[in-house]
Amino acid sequence: MAFILLAAPLAATEPAPPAEEKSFVDPVVLKARADALRDAVADQAVSNVSVKTRARGFFDKIPEETLVVETGNYRRIEREPVTGKVGSIEGMLAESAKRLELWKRAHAEPPPPDLVEAIKQARELQESKSLSYDTKDELAPNQMGIFKYMTDRFDGGIVKLNERMKTLGILVGDAFTYATVAHESQHARDRAAGRLSPEEEVAGEISAFRVQYHWIKTMDPRGERMLTLHSGLKLWRDRETDDQIKIALNEAVVYLEHLSDVVSTNGKEEELKKLVLKLGYKDGKHSHGGDEHEHERSRVSASPTSA
Ligand SMILES: [Zn+2]
Repeated sequence: MAFILLAAPLAATEPAPPAEEKSFVDPVVLKARADALRDAVADQAVSNVSVKTRARGFFDKIPEETLVVETGNYRRIEREPVTGKVGSIEGMLAESAKRLELWKRAHAEPPPPDLVEAIKQARELQESKSLSYDTKDELAPNQMGIFKYMTDRFDGGIVKLNERMKTLGILVGDAFTYATVAHESQHARDRAAGRLSPEEEVAGEISAFRVQYHWIKTMDPRGERMLTLHSGLKLWRDRETDDQIKIALNEAVVYLEHLSDVVSTNGKEEELKKLVLKLGYKDGKHSHGGDEHEHERSRVSASPTSA
């Protein structure tokens, strides 16, 4: 791949430096040379010394010239750059902004508007100290997030994230764990707009899972990051002998599989509804006696225990 960096002029008055003249190797010539060299290597009658001489002749010229090679068919598979840093709310929010920008650079059409709004909402929740980790251990091990709101008002809802998200972040990175934030953030948006109530649990979940779907498709449009990360973690989990690490690895695998189920809906209403019902959400399930409603969820489909 040829990267040509163009230096910007220091000041507008300064003329730009003249473009360097480049000579390109014709791919046809290059291919013929490569074929000749391969034939020489394969030919028992050609001596080693002769092969070396021909190889030197082949490579000697190349560093002086800019190679122009078609890269379209040789694109590398996308991998999620997981750094092993402990997950954090700040890290997740930073990833959301970064990935949205990356997506914009590569696409002519704007990103999904509901996702853009959910990302804004998450930042607002964090700024008003309404997005934090559940330090009181209120969430079940397989509940990654919860949105709590007062039934007598539309504003002031809060999002709590399972502290396990920190470990999860080490293994899958803050961009994948942000899927949970996007989900809960959409609940907050829907509640503020008067669209979320205990009687409309299913519709609320469909809306939140749709935004989650949009997030994953935005950060991993081809699904390659998910695929490579999932298969690597699964292999590691199956070989791991330390119980604690194995449990953490299993949680990461289950989490990614849950996200994969969301991706499988293709963001379609009917498929999203099927997923929501499969996960056990029901309308009007909660008692309306208290003034606080726990719109808990963003739970994963299987209890993450040792594999
Ligand atoms: Zn939910």
